[in-house]
Amino acid sequence: MKRLGVLGGTFDPIHFGHLVAAEAAAEVLDLDRVLFVPCGRPPHRPAGQTTPAEHRYLMTVLATAGNPRFRVSRMELDRPGPSYTVDTLEELRAELGPDVALIFIVGADAFLGMDRWKDPERILELAEVAVVSRPGWNDGAVEARLQAMPAHLAARVRHLDIDPLNISARELRRRLSQGRSVRYLLPQQVLDYIQQHGLYRGSHAELMEQKAPC
Ligand code: ATP
Ligand code: MG
Repeated sequence: MKRLGVLGGTFDPIHFGHLVAAEAAAEVLDLDRVLFVPCGRPPHRPAGQTTPAEHRYLMTVLATAGNPRFRVSRMELDRPGPSYTVDTLEELRAELGPDVALIFIVGADAFLGMDRWKDPERILELAEVAVVSRPGWNDGAVEARLQAMPAHLAARVRHLDIDPLNISARELRRRLSQGRSVRYLLPQQVLDYIQQHGLYRGSHAELMEQKAPC
């Protein structure tokens, strides 16, 4: 393997927006694999505001199982303490050696918040960053941020020209908590899992709407 895409997220729950972004990035960037990395413990969120990690992990496995290019990692679940992307990329780099290119895939919303993440410069040393547009997020803001970055860092970022789906996990949680349909917005296997385990029902789901990205 020469080129590994990495898509981190809360995946609470995973939906077709994630899957389409990963597939499109794989196609455009000629990635051998895309590794989905559900976050274990979001750094800036009190415990109890996120669906338990094992549920989010299993939903991600169910959603990606049919795609030979997709894999799911437990590394953030199994690492104690808060989940930081920089630690994940360090671990992958150590595991895979210097010859595998790491491409960290982010939505425009996540990219615009990355300056507040732990050690963003190190993230850009360890990986190239591929930014995927997101409906409701201004592509101009992404371009402006790139212009404002030091050239050697901006050179590590690529804004992909792919059509995103207008789906967010937050909206799915809202609909599920109201008993509304989310069919055709996420894989049926994930929906079956949600229903079997009674996830996103009632007031707990309302609470989770307030959370910040992982
Ligand atoms: P939430 O509403 O809970 O924040 P989310 O739908 O944004 O959920 P995350 O798990 O936060 O999902 O996202 C993981 C990564 O996938 C982030 O980089 C995010 O920008 C990206 N992403 C999420 N949904 C989409 C989408 N519809 N199109 C493109 N990228 C997406
Ligand atoms: Mg998000």
